[in-house]
Amino acid sequence: MKASDQGTKRRRNRPCWRLPGDPSLGVHLREHRGAPRSRSTRVFEHPARCYLQPMLLCEYAEFVTWHPDMASSGGGRPRWTRIEAEGAVLCNSIEWVDWTDDPVQVEICDACGHPECASGGYVRMVRLGDSIVWTRTSMEFEGDWEASQFTSLYALRKKGPIVFPVENWNGWRLRFADLPAPDRIPPMTRRDLELAWLLEFPPARGLSSSRALPSLLRAKTIAAHPGEIDAAILHVEQICEWFEADPTREVTGCLRPVAGDPLLLAMEGLGSEPGGFRQWAPLVITHDGPAPLLGNLVVTS
Ligand SMILES: [Zn+2]
Repeated sequence: MKASDQGTKRRRNRPCWRLPGDPSLGVHLREHRGAPRSRSTRVFEHPARCYLQPMLLCEYAEFVTWHPDMASSGGGRPRWTRIEAEGAVLCNSIEWVDWTDDPVQVEICDACGHPECASGGYVRMVRLGDSIVWTRTSMEFEGDWEASQFTSLYALRKKGPIVFPVENWNGWRLRFADLPAPDRIPPMTRRDLELAWLLEFPPARGLSSSRALPSLLRAKTIAAHPGEIDAAILHVEQICEWFEADPTREVTGCLRPVAGDPLLLAMEGLGSEPGGFRQWAPLVITHDGPAPLLGNLVVTS
């Protein structure tokens, strides 16, 4: 939906909360039912430049056969299979990627086929219950040059974490035996979840930990729903502390569609344009306290 100048101005002057599901207030939930490739069942829409950036729920993918030209390296034209979803390349060669690596380079050099020849295209693969999650690696690099060599996959930087239901993944493995078996993929730790969660919020994608997040939100948040801003950010802080308390601990539970209203924050000055607005639904309050959200999926325990 395109932003109108009028809508943008109105948002700037009166950034109050519009309740989800109340179209009269400008925000409503859009249902994607039966879409061949849905990344999310519910997204928020707003006439202004104000939206949530959900992770990519990859239940459907396209597998495209192609033949890279490796004449310059004497490799001929091998048969490769590319994985695409939502218009993004998730992997350029199921056959030649070294799936045992961590992080794994899922987009490899198409001039020679060797992992680590090209820079970038990396993901960390972890398993959470009946999902496989691609997220950022928590590996620390020495200097900017090394970090640039291990840049995350473009789709991860653009769309946030990528979630594959194990059932679908196993279905693909019937055709592509090179894809790793889910039980060979390491379980998700709190640290992995923290980085996946930060990927959800574009202004925080470059942060190496969530420690600085509460102060960033305190400085920029202009509205919260439900409740007050201070209380909302305290919930965010609780989650950050939970990550930090035991980063290597395995996350138990699984990802499920969120029931009830998530906590929503509206922020000023964090959009892609000067003065731009941004929304984020970082968590939902459950019986056990605040639980982080990835897109419209909640991490249940
Ligand atoms: Zn190469």
